[in-house]
Amino acid sequence: MEATRTLTVGDRVEQMCVTCGEERGHIVASMTKKGRINRVSCPLCGSRVPYKSGTARRATNKAGAPYDRARTYRRGQTLMHPTFGEGEVTAIIEPGKMDVLFADRMRRLIHAHAYTNPGSASAIRVA
Ligand SMILES: [Zn+2]
Repeated sequence: MEATRTLTVGDRVEQMCVTCGEERGHIVASMTKKGRINRVSCPLCGSRVPYKSGTARRATNKAGAPYDRARTYRRGQTLMHPTFGEGEVTAIIEPGKMDVLFADRMRRLIHAHAYTNPGSASAIRVA
């Protein structure tokens, strides 16, 4: 079933890029008057192509850097989760928590999770 969430210019959609030769997140470049995606642009090569709805979603194994909970992410960053695959940060909920949109659904992950913090620098343990 096709997702029914409303997309607007600037949103991200999955599309096969002929220039890059692989499927990746594209940016919606223009909409039709009926509110459907007209054209999308590839953020990597910049090519604009007509949007093809119903493109098979396939997990790409070449996207963002591997997910690292110690890193501090920002909205719009992509990451590669070992279990969920490619994801894009859609919102920072609070310091240390973020919503990440994966190929199938949204998940909440922790980030900026310092392994050491001031005041307990001596609390580093080897598990
Ligand atoms: Zn491309």
